[in-house]
Amino acid sequence: MEEYRGRHILVFGLARSGFAAARLLLGAGAVVCGSDEDENVEIPPDLTALETHLGHFRGELVDDIEEIVVSPGIPDDHPVFAAASARSIAVIGELELAYRFARAPVIAVTGTNGKSTTVEMIGEMLREGGRDVVVAGNIGTPFSSVVGETDENGLFVIEVSSFQLETIDRLHPACAGILNLTPDHLDRYRSLEDYYGAKERMLDNLAPDDHFFYNADDPLCVGAAERAEAVMVPFSSSGRVPGGVYLDGEHLIRESAGGTEEIVCDRGEMRVVGIHNVENALAAIAAVTPFGVTADSCRRALAAFGGLPHRMELVAESGGVSFYNDSKATNVEAAVKSLKGLESPVILIAGGHDKGGDFSKLLEVSGVVRSIVTIGEAAGLIEKAAGERIPCTRAGSMKEAVMTAAAAAEEGWLVVLSPACASFDMYDNFEHRGRVFRDSVSEIVKKSGDGE
Ligand code: ADP
Repeated sequence: MEEYRGRHILVFGLARSGFAAARLLLGAGAVVCGSDEDENVEIPPDLTALETHLGHFRGELVDDIEEIVVSPGIPDDHPVFAAASARSIAVIGELELAYRFARAPVIAVTGTNGKSTTVEMIGEMLREGGRDVVVAGNIGTPFSSVVGETDENGLFVIEVSSFQLETIDRLHPACAGILNLTPDHLDRYRSLEDYYGAKERMLDNLAPDDHFFYNADDPLCVGAAERAEAVMVPFSSSGRVPGGVYLDGEHLIRESAGGTEEIVCDRGEMRVVGIHNVENALAAIAAVTPFGVTADSCRRALAAFGGLPHRMELVAESGGVSFYNDSKATNVEAAVKSLKGLESPVILIAGGHDKGGDFSKLLEVSGVVRSIVTIGEAAGLIEKAAGERIPCTRAGSMKEAVMTAAAAAEEGWLVVLSPACASFDMYDNFEHRGRVFRDSVSEIVKKSGDGE
């Protein structure tokens, strides 16, 4: 990659993706400077040669810089953007940078919920179909760190967040998809329109022979499709969509452009449960169809895919009570989707850092949720929204929450951590929160003498 040889690049925001970007740029012969406002950032041993500026950002830092790679955690009102704009310096994200180095075509997936699950399903289907595939992006593996791992014959499957879409430029997926659009991240965006607008940047570089898969049951996704210039592959869990992928009774069906129907699999053959996972599977089938993956490969992948940790993950069963970790449900819609299809009564543990969510939507699952144990900053808001309809008890820690929930649950009931909030008020991230839940559950289960 000659484009970066000798150029002066600033990587702003030194976390996992920033370090991956710095490595990629150094390998391409760029003169790289790394910066972060946190003075205590630990520089990995292989990057000690990187010139670094830690602490408060000052505009002079970018005086001799030709391009800036920003971390997705930096909001667009941060002074680094004004400093760049005053000097006409381009600002891109790590994902955009990696794309410039990619030799394989890209399948890109965005949406409010289901992205990680769907990219993993797509990866498994392509592998079953014999393709060399690399899954990366927002899922936790920076695209920059794996961009050299496949060539023209392979494929990249990339999970893309709205934050990452804010800083794309040339990113041109051969196949792009939007799974759903519901309110989220209102602590970062000024309005929902701004959030949806960032998501729709996915369509920016699509050309007529690219493919776009979208949720035909979601009016906002349909609106986006109307503006896209690409071959359309709609998917729906509520009925037939011509030329698309849909659920018909128990069957997941894909229809060719000519109208020929083919059963990919039955819902019962999938290992992961819930209508949201059926939607994710339909989206994944839609995504791999342009690449010639057979129905049989899709079916085998879905029969083997057991889901990701922290998404309705069964962590223990004790005294007839099942404990589920759904820590990744970081917004209200995600929590409601997880709970809606459940048939057993649930004691819900919810709360955390509020992102401006509408907690009254939890009332949609008042039939299944017998009570809520509230935690974290949003506890009061959830209690207010639950009102008289769902009784709430507040807990001061995860352990106390699990103890309260376990004591309230009767035989055959479920205790579910599905927080409907971000984790940052009490934990490093959703994985940390999920681990604390799991550890609290095993401690309590052990104490009750019914563990293992
Ligand atoms: P993302 O990567 O978009 O956060 P995940 O696949 O990690 O999505 O799932 C996160 C949570 O979102 C799950 O725990 C589940 O509660 C919910 N979820 C998953 N798929 C969907 C979907 N298609 N629609 C709505 N909610 C979903």
